[in-house]
Amino acid sequence: ADDLLRVAELVRSVPDYPQPGVLFRDITPVLADGGAFATVTTELAAHAGEAEIVIGVEARGFLLGAAVALVAGVGTVPVRKAGKLPAVAASRTYELEYGTATLQLPAGVVEPGARVYVVDDVLATGGTAAASCALLADAGAEIVGFGTLMELTALNGRSKLGDLRVDALLSA
Ligand code: IMP
Repeated sequence: ADDLLRVAELVRSVPDYPQPGVLFRDITPVLADGGAFATVTTELAAHAGEAEIVIGVEARGFLLGAAVALVAGVGTVPVRKAGKLPAVAASRTYELEYGTATLQLPAGVVEPGARVYVVDDVLATGGTAAASCALLADAGAEIVGFGTLMELTALNGRSKLGDLRVDALLSA
């Protein structure tokens, strides 16, 4: 618990980014601190449980997801923004405040029935997490949970994830 307090102190709150009125939670200082980075990856790896693959969501989810996978002793697979992958297993488009975004899962790396744990840095409105989980469901994966460093509870992102287990190390 003391370790997570220290992690919380390292999260930097940036007003009016990326637009006026938004308070952005910047986890960069957490990743830059060896002790805090170890704390968050170890905690999330414990939640990953029996997962066979840890999924990292572009882009900060890659940094966390790869480390969580290594600690958990499993592999990692990225969920990427459209147009980055040479071979695509599934695509999902979701609504943003202005416009839409598309996420894609690479072909040939997540087998039907694979148990996966999905990781991203921050859970905000839940659109990104829901689209990522929908992609994995399309691929036939069994999603054991969604893990995040910080949940912005006022935005109620977990409501978009149905009864999926959400592991948030911090909330704001
Ligand atoms: P959502 O789709 O609204 O839940 O937004 C989550 C996605 O946007 C994640 O991939 C986050 O990396 C990013 N995001 C949204 N808000 C923040 C924030 O305050 N800090 C860091 N990332 C954020």
